[in-house]
Amino acid sequence: MPTWFVTGGAGFIGGNFVLDAVGQGVRVVNLDALTYAGNLDTLATLEGNADHAFVQGDIGDATLVRTLLNECRPDAVINFAAESHVDRSIDGPAAFVQTNVVGTLSLLEQVRDYWKSLDEAGQRDFRFLHVSTDEVYGTLGETGSFTETTPYAPNSPYSASKAASDHLVRAFHHTYGLPVLTTNCSNNYGPYQFPEKLIPLVIAKALAGEPIPVYGDGLNVRDWLFVQDHCDAIVRVLEKGRPGETYNVGGNAERENIVVVRTICRLLDERRPLGDGRKREDLITFVKDRPGHDRRYAIDASKLRDELGWEPTLSFDEGMARTVDWYLDNQPWVQRVLDGSYRLERIGQG
Ligand code: NAD
Repeated sequence: MPTWFVTGGAGFIGGNFVLDAVGQGVRVVNLDALTYAGNLDTLATLEGNADHAFVQGDIGDATLVRTLLNECRPDAVINFAAESHVDRSIDGPAAFVQTNVVGTLSLLEQVRDYWKSLDEAGQRDFRFLHVSTDEVYGTLGETGSFTETTPYAPNSPYSASKAASDHLVRAFHHTYGLPVLTTNCSNNYGPYQFPEKLIPLVIAKALAGEPIPVYGDGLNVRDWLFVQDHCDAIVRVLEKGRPGETYNVGGNAERENIVVVRTICRLLDERRPLGDGRKREDLITFVKDRPGHDRRYAIDASKLRDELGWEPTLSFDEGMARTVDWYLDNQPWVQRVLDGSYRLERIGQG
């Protein structure tokens, strides 16, 4: 049974990843600082499961990370921990540099030292996988898509901090030989996403019958990938990827933001009409655009498909329907985030 050391495993993607990994027979040691984005409710079904150990702590805490690595002896480290919300990075970039750059560097140093001790003992089969974003590539015009060789051109403090962390990961491979892999993925959606991000925010507002804010003209384009498909891609890269390489991950699902919002409105109207005759589309309210808002992202994930045989399994329409149904079926999870009580009770720590 492999042991994976996962950072940021109480967040959106990390939480989905941990649930899947433990379900598939992996032992997981889960280090998460439990910032506002960390939510142990997401991991509630793992309470008492001996294959999941949760530790509250910072990836930048070198002593803690060193101790955990030496005690748990993981076969792989998967780094999800990050400050991840672009709007928050505009209001306060320092926290993004602290976790995404300084924290990742500290983690890399501890992982390098642990890996060296494995290597000296003749155990070579170790990998460090760094989870990153397509936002490092900047913005596209009307055509074209990002490949793994597209030059980095980050435009927000968030993407700049992720770009810096990607460069550090790369440097640790070229300088120290650390067997690293980096994935650059497009926008994720699905269960357990914090309702500050577009899709869960729109679902929450639309369900409540409140104005649905849409930035600018709503014509910014993102590629969308269902979170479980992203988690599968990460496992594929971890197990089959070539160390030192980066892999783009995408959903072949470019959509304008306004199309995403209208899709949610339609799905909710079908499932739970407002009751007063209003259509949810009427709630859409265009608001002042985000500064530096990238116009279009699109991902060319052919390297991952051709080399490792990964492709998304869900279409955008299937993924969106599944997501809306999940939020409707899991309102207690959402309500505890919205009223803040998810932060008061901490469960399952050991
Ligand atoms: P998230 O904000 O939902 O989760 C981040 C998690 O990291 C939280 O649980 C938080 O408590 C934890 N964390 C923050 N700072 C920490 C620190 N210093 N030490 C330990 N833990 C810390 O983010 P997410 O959407 O799940 O994204 C996970 C990763 O995937 C990030 O690196 C992000 O850049 C990347 N990514 C996200 C998307 C997306 O659409 N959400 C797309 C591509 C890549």
